[in-house]
Amino acid sequence: MKILVLNCGSSSLKYQLIDMENESVLAKGICEKIGMDGSMISHNPSGKEGFKNRQEAMPDHKAAVKLVIDALLDKEVGVISDMKEIDAVGHRVLHGGKYYSESIVVNEDVKRVIRECFDLGPLHNPANLIGIEACEALMPETPQVAVFDTAFHQTMPQKAFMYALPYEYYEKYAIRKYGFHGTSHRFVSARTIDFLGLDKNNSKVIVCHLGNGASLSAVQNGKCVDTSMGLTPLEGLVMGTRSGDLDPAVVQYIANKENRSVDDVLNILNKKSGVLGISGVSSDFRDLDAAATSGNERAKAALDMFVYRIVKYIGSYAAAMNGVDAIAFTAGIGENDSKVRAAICSYLGYLGVKIDEEQNKLRGKENVISAPDSKVKVAVIPTNEELAIARETLALI
Ligand code: AMP
Repeated sequence: MKILVLNCGSSSLKYQLIDMENESVLAKGICEKIGMDGSMISHNPSGKEGFKNRQEAMPDHKAAVKLVIDALLDKEVGVISDMKEIDAVGHRVLHGGKYYSESIVVNEDVKRVIRECFDLGPLHNPANLIGIEACEALMPETPQVAVFDTAFHQTMPQKAFMYALPYEYYEKYAIRKYGFHGTSHRFVSARTIDFLGLDKNNSKVIVCHLGNGASLSAVQNGKCVDTSMGLTPLEGLVMGTRSGDLDPAVVQYIANKENRSVDDVLNILNKKSGVLGISGVSSDFRDLDAAATSGNERAKAALDMFVYRIVKYIGSYAAAMNGVDAIAFTAGIGENDSKVRAAICSYLGYLGVKIDEEQNKLRGKENVISAPDSKVKVAVIPTNEELAIARETLALI
């Protein structure tokens, strides 16, 4: 069984072909600058040389999908000899609105919902749909599965997902918290329960997905009960370039002072804020850490704020679940940045968290980093969204 996983962004397409017999990656790659000048594809087959940044015309995502399939079938850099070897395609889809709490085999209804959610995911949902339709055109016999970023969070109770706005906005426009990174939160929370030997039906887990985009989720008895991202991925934590939570009046204030539109200000909050905006150095934690170590005060402030916001969310989720058994760190920062993990845990003594400093130094591998007598177990659980999408796709076909 071979499953192609596609993750279509507004101008990019990431792919992996996974052999589900042993869950090994046969090939992976990325198409960039789709629809722009200078579009290029990088293809990395397992066990042989691929190519990097090869310039190819990609006027749209359909052309990109065609180039991916050509690369997979290529005599020299390919890994399959017939397109029929691809048993199914799993698509990462950003927004499933309130309609889907699980992944689903694509049919006309699913495509209608993805289209209905264009307003909620304006950069991603159109690209996701084009990716699906391109695959349907190129491989009409092959099942397509949509795996939604929002689905895992659909179990949140109303008190967690509602905003305190006039109720009619919820009814008319479905304005509410949806949450994102759901595939990662589902995968990591399930793996945490297994890895730590917790009882799924009596477990309280907080997952800290800390990458360039960052979010927390509170997972009780295997089900999401709260998460930090909202209607869009802008809410919640301080992120690489996103502000996370702030007083909504700030938007009006900046718009008036700088004579900018609401759209302009939202663009600033999404792309020029977060640790990049505060530090003026970078959104990358390796650069921030180097700057802070060499005495850059704004880089230090950015790191402090990043950690402090996470700590506040952990406290609120421990309160919401009336306790916590385990905290899991994942994604680029969560898996690799031992200083950030240690800084977060240094606030959590009141929960009984104790870190094993030696274990915490290890990077990027599944590991318990709490001391044996810690009341709350703390673990690093690498996320693998592509594998999670492939597994969900396999389960459905
Ligand atoms: P992701 O969005 O999950 O790919 O995470 C990307 C982020 O992880 C980068 O922007 C870096 O800030 C961070 N990161 C990756 N590797 C390291 C590392 N070795 N140390 C600290 N941060 C890292």
